[in-house]
Amino acid sequence: MFCRNCGNAMDPNQAVCLTCGTPAGAGSAFCPNCGNPVAPSAVVCVSCGVALQQKPAVGGKSKIAAGLLAIFLGQLGIHNFYLGYTKKAVIQLLVTILLSWTFVAPTAIWIWAIVEAVQIFQGKITDANGMALSD
Ligand SMILES: [Zn+2]
Ligand SMILES: [Zn+2]
Repeated sequence: MFCRNCGNAMDPNQAVCLTCGTPAGAGSAFCPNCGNPVAPSAVVCVSCGVALQQKPAVGGKSKIAAGLLAIFLGQLGIHNFYLGYTKKAVIQLLVTILLSWTFVAPTAIWIWAIVEAVQIFQGKITDANGMALSD
């Protein structure tokens, strides 16, 4: 296996390239199978034919933190503030506060937040910059 960022050989058990410090699978400049340079947008390596899967880059936001915020403070949109989805967060916050005298609206927002919590734990939701959440 080769580092996708610098093309140096690396042990399959290594989590990080010892040459450039890039996490295994991150980067798009080299084929992980044969180590030849590939185009960043290539889906298949033209040298060896292996499929090039682009692992989403992992950002600094935590899956656990986002998920717990969604479960406990999701009605106030706190998890979306955390992830950077400010517009969505404000909608959840305002609907919950302004329509708190109704039963339906806060419940709907709560269900919405729980659905998002599940998606966060399943890794289906990234932060607002498109970075995957860390485990
Ligand atoms: Zn490297
Ligand atoms: Zn290759």
